[in-house]
Amino acid sequence: MKIITSINEMKEWSRKCALNIKSVGLVPTMGYLHEGHLSLVRIARSENDLTVASIFVNPTQFGEKEDLNVYPRDPEGDRVKLESCGVDALFLPDAESMYGAGYETFVEVQQLSLPLCGQSRPGHFRGVATVVLKLFNIIEPARAYFGSKDYQQLQVIKKMVRDLNVRTEVIGCPTIREADGLAMSSRNSYLSRSERKQAVCLYEALWKAQQLFITNETDPNEYVGAMKDAISREPGLSPEYVRLVDPDTLKDVSVVQAPVLAILAVRIGQTRLIDNVLMS
Ligand code: AMP
Repeated sequence: MKIITSINEMKEWSRKCALNIKSVGLVPTMGYLHEGHLSLVRIARSENDLTVASIFVNPTQFGEKEDLNVYPRDPEGDRVKLESCGVDALFLPDAESMYGAGYETFVEVQQLSLPLCGQSRPGHFRGVATVVLKLFNIIEPARAYFGSKDYQQLQVIKKMVRDLNVRTEVIGCPTIREADGLAMSSRNSYLSRSERKQAVCLYEALWKAQQLFITNETDPNEYVGAMKDAISREPGLSPEYVRLVDPDTLKDVSVVQAPVLAILAVRIGQTRLIDNVLMS
């Protein structure tokens, strides 16, 4: 696996792939890798000649009071995992080279960035869209792979690509879960042992929504009520949002009809977790 830290060297590597008519699949990450990330790598490998993973803890997508400085990191563990998954190149740019002095250009997907996580994390999706477009411009991948766990992020990136005529195809991949249903996340490492136990209620809430969907319940309030109920059973958890939305617009639905997305964000102590399930 080639390790590349310089933007110019990454561009050069990608240019050579293009000259040799090799398709490149990109898996962008912030590191501290788990099976969710590695599942994206495996899909990318199966659909492209060469696979690039990037690790960059992108400062522009963190709010001032957020966890940028304590975000978990394990560069050596990540390298071993990616190498054993057969990644061809690992791109590790630093913040200085990505956003040097005087940097001032940002991408904003206006409407899709507003609801849900956009409400509590203003500027977050602007940072995400900007760094993803930069990575696409540097690496020029044929395809890029994103997890459905970050559903709003996936929709924002798909929209940016459509609106700006970017050539990369954006591919959404399934959410990988722990045995008890908790969606894998680098931020799960923040949870204490008791918080980790409580965290399974996010999945239980989504499971309840799926049960109502199977019974053809059409009232979104029934779903939201049942999901909030599952979360409030655990003391000290505060739901940030619990919603039933249209999977394309992310707007609340007034009648539940397939396809519909149950989506939530919950704070457990200092940790903010998100999850969702698409019902169709
Ligand atoms: P992150 O390192 O958290 O920025 O995530 C990098 C990529 O991995 C994003 O596309 C995420 O949606 C994806 N990802 C994170 N957790 C999971 C998971 N549990 N299952 C599938 N993909 C995931």
